[in-house]
Amino acid sequence: MTSFDVSACRERAHLRHERRVANGKDAAQSHKKYARELVAVSGLEQIVEWALTRGISVSFSSKEDDGTYDLGARTITLSSRSSPERVLHYALHECGHAIIGQRLPGERYGFGYSHATAKKMYKVSNKIDILDEELGAWEHGRELAKKLGVKIDILSYNATRNEKIMTYMKWIMRVHPYENGAADD
Ligand SMILES: [Zn+2]
Repeated sequence: MTSFDVSACRERAHLRHERRVANGKDAAQSHKKYARELVAVSGLEQIVEWALTRGISVSFSSKEDDGTYDLGARTITLSSRSSPERVLHYALHECGHAIIGQRLPGERYGFGYSHATAKKMYKVSNKIDILDEELGAWEHGRELAKKLGVKIDILSYNATRNEKIMTYMKWIMRVHPYENGAADD
């Protein structure tokens, strides 16, 4: 686990650009990608700062595929292997979970992560609340980017969201038929 190191991120983006060009990739195209990555790194820097002001710590791990938010510990863990743009998307999404926070059973998302237990996670109603919370976290993440002036390509952000939401939809549909779901395998 490492903390966010903005200069190391910029340096790695630069090295990737140099490597692409050395490998014969179009220099102008590669530079465009490099510039996009730098914008994402700056956005990430703003998000990490925002999180810290709210008592949320952010760390990076090579074992993480995308991102996680620990509701009790108020910690966000992000993938250190994904591209800066993807990491920015995951960071915004995990901040979205932090914004939603702990909910009471009668509230929206109330039977989502706030009251998820291994047993409840098998119930369709809890799964739907988790899906609702997942979508909510993506939306709160988008609003946070807007509020902080963090530049995101909305189509690219939605593509990351859609990919992740699809995994939840598959998880919901994989319930046993007696729980009102459709078995898909
Ligand atoms: Zn999530």
